[in-house]
Amino acid sequence: MTPASWIELSDGAVAANLKVLRAVAGAARVGAVLKGNAYGHGLLEMLSLVHGRVDVLYVITPQEAARIRAWEASAAQPRREVVVMGAVSVDDCLALARLGVSVVAAERGFEAAVRALSAAGLTPDVHVHLDTGLGREGFTAEALDAGDADFLRGARVRGAMSHFANTEDVTEQDFAQSQLACFGAGVERLEARLGVGGLVRHFAASAAALVLPPSRLDVIRPGIALYGLWPSAETRLSARVVLGDVPTLEPVLSWRSASQVVKWLPAGSYVGYGCTWRCEAATRVAVLPVGYWDGYPRLASGKAHVLVNGRRCPVLGRVMMNHLIADVTHAVNDEAPLTATLLGRDGDEVVSAELLAGWAQTIHYETVTRLGPHLRRVVTR
Ligand SMILES: *Cc1c(COP(=O)(O)O)cnc(C)c1O
Repeated sequence: MTPASWIELSDGAVAANLKVLRAVAGAARVGAVLKGNAYGHGLLEMLSLVHGRVDVLYVITPQEAARIRAWEASAAQPRREVVVMGAVSVDDCLALARLGVSVVAAERGFEAAVRALSAAGLTPDVHVHLDTGLGREGFTAEALDAGDADFLRGARVRGAMSHFANTEDVTEQDFAQSQLACFGAGVERLEARLGVGGLVRHFAASAAALVLPPSRLDVIRPGIALYGLWPSAETRLSARVVLGDVPTLEPVLSWRSASQVVKWLPAGSYVGYGCTWRCEAATRVAVLPVGYWDGYPRLASGKAHVLVNGRRCPVLGRVMMNHLIADVTHAVNDEAPLTATLLGRDGDEVVSAELLAGWAQTIHYETVTRLGPHLRRVVTR
């Protein structure tokens, strides 16, 4: 078989992170956000790890929900509550209703779906998205007052949701507090206009669930924390203050690669496109069959290291589409095939998603989400 890189997912880490989130949630139910191929971890692989451990599954697209239902059928698992939070077409909406998947009404345009559902005799649970300050999807207070959501009187409205705009970048949650107040008023308004009560309220993603207790409401919707990553350094700092202690989140994902070849390059050799690296001395290099096609960021060129035998090995020259080259001179004693860790722990060293993201001038959310769906994912116990 050709050498390749693979992703390992730790079952124990998922369990540990959910224990933290359950403790934080208190009486609130705990959902799992599985959008973006489960933040690059692999939708079905993560599903197998969280399905029996959480109360609700949140995704963005109808395709993701359909894959969850298909997995449940093939694995002989009961159907979990699944909510598609993103935009759906009328046809998607009918298909989702037949799969027993909940949908979210966020705009006036959803009226066409409500009419089609009613004509087809379908009554999926509908959640209503209120825009409380993110400026993304959802009914604003003004839209509610203008009657934009009144068409929902014909639907089975069961929940109300919103999403925070500014919880991760700050240690003072003033804007989030204002969004929370806006949400409280909005839910009241919505219930009054639709003549319903007791809507299930869900608002908090990871950061708010961890550091803004009043935001936990009826269900929390963590994504990043479930994968064992802190939303930000600010969230971590705030957790120390709010929770009195920083809970341990364990990164679920490690990314490793077998070497394609290990060899010596003589002093003076160039490495990679553009000849941006030149070996000062004879250098033992490992060519790894991993590149930006797989999601290893090219912007990390000249900064990154991988781990071999618990040692840092600098990535030399530019990251290529399907290859990168690391200096393993001091990490191994021969030219035998080796395993390199691109993300995760090896011995005492860790390449965190935050570190890789920093090299690439982005955030860890993006770095893990961009890991190629083609990579093999294996669950480790
Ligand atoms: C992505 C997302 C979440 C989860 O956010 P994290 O910061 O990863 O916990 C929750 N709710 C909505 C609407 C989202 O889009």
